[in-house]
Amino acid sequence: MTQGTEEHPVSTIDPDRAAGVDWDAVVVGAGLAGSIAARGLARSGRRVLLVERTAFPRPKVCGCCLGPLGRATLESVDLGHVLDACRARPLESVQLHVGRRPAHVPLRGVVGVSREALDQHLAREAVASGTELLLEARAEPRPDGTVGLQVDGRRFELAARTVLHAGGLRAHDSDGPGHGEDVMVGFGALVPTPGRLRGADRVEMVLDRDGYVGVAPLDDGRMTVASALRTEAIKRTGGPRAVVKRLLHGAGLGELVDETTRFTGVPALRRRRTLVQEDRLLAIGDAASFVEPITGEGMSWALASGAAVVPCAEAVIAHGPGVDHWTTAWRRLMRRRHLRCSIVGSCIRRPALVRAALAVSSILPVMRAPILSGLLGGRESMPEGEPA
Ligand SMILES: Cc1cc2nc3c(=O)[nH]c(=O)nc-3n(C[C@H](O)[C@H](O)[C@H](O)COP(=O)(O)OP(=O)(O)OC[C@H]3O[C@@H](n4cnc5c(N)ncnc54)[C@H](O)[C@@H]3O)c2cc1C
Repeated sequence: MTQGTEEHPVSTIDPDRAAGVDWDAVVVGAGLAGSIAARGLARSGRRVLLVERTAFPRPKVCGCCLGPLGRATLESVDLGHVLDACRARPLESVQLHVGRRPAHVPLRGVVGVSREALDQHLAREAVASGTELLLEARAEPRPDGTVGLQVDGRRFELAARTVLHAGGLRAHDSDGPGHGEDVMVGFGALVPTPGRLRGADRVEMVLDRDGYVGVAPLDDGRMTVASALRTEAIKRTGGPRAVVKRLLHGAGLGELVDETTRFTGVPALRRRRTLVQEDRLLAIGDAASFVEPITGEGMSWALASGAAVVPCAEAVIAHGPGVDHWTTAWRRLMRRRHLRCSIVGSCIRRPALVRAALAVSSILPVMRAPILSGLLGGRESMPEGEPA
């Protein structure tokens, strides 16, 4: 198979050959969670196949703000250099537009990083550690350790001692909220940075009854526009572009979006699997659970769970599916973070409440730090001693 350019990783194995291998692990989805987990297992000598539905580079709806937990996780598995290679840039603050006057929130330890660059670098690191990569292949992972594969209209069957589901929000396609319900959905676009915002080191965030939009600068002359919008507002206003434009207009940023802006959508947010481990199948990243993008933590959660799953997957490879270590480890890692994010998500659906909280914080400055760090907790800092 082709070696791949420095820019775009390519397949290292074809499906016929992959179907004949006795895999230790098949990892479904070459996003952040999948690549970091595949690399970890390959580094300990396991035979690992990483299967990805698309080809690189692929669009990804994301605000691209990576917080301290994600950075610490990369450092902990000797991947800190990847952020330099992706030209991640420090983000100093968030400008929160929720009332007439924007609130300024300082950030600590947060960087803006292109998802195109980061995902490709991590997939390349997985391959460099011995992982086989199969792109443009749609996988159907099953608890018994088998994986159905569809490539170019052909079907294949794979077998592995453990299967990691890292397929992101799409992993929940069949069990999400119904189409008629008023839920939040994600939309994102990459737009050219206007002259007046070049060199900016802050995130603009607009909150409204119809949803919220974040705009962050990248180091490649573009900005990421990422939004979570109520489906009812999208129907009422005539599409996601119109809702995003209206929200940005209110913050003086309406010029960022026009009729040429191409938005990509993701399925309904707030997803959770009933079982994160089911026999030989272990779910990580968004495939295990996703709450809200508001606190900017999803990438960190994906990286942290992708790193933390490695010893649990090793146990399944070595001893079979008898003991469920992953559910316990995953709960320990995520429960508190999910709870806080869920509370913040519920509060921001009431912009009047956020405005009142900000008003209190301006009258009582002592309340400012707790209120703002509660709102943007994941972006601000990681408590001392937190496990990566
Ligand atoms: C609007 C919005 C804004 C966000 N902003 C931020 C932010 O600023 N900071 C932050 O930290 N997080 C943010 N997030 C969250 C973050 O993007 C995700 O949590 C993160 O990408 C999850 O990584 P993952 O590896 O679990 O999944 P993904 O990155 O989604 O990767 C999953 C991969 O699996 C592949 N795949 C899916 N199904 C299959 C299949 N059947 N077979 C093979 N491959 C498959 C997909 O093509 C994809 O490549 C945001 C999310 C949204 C929706």
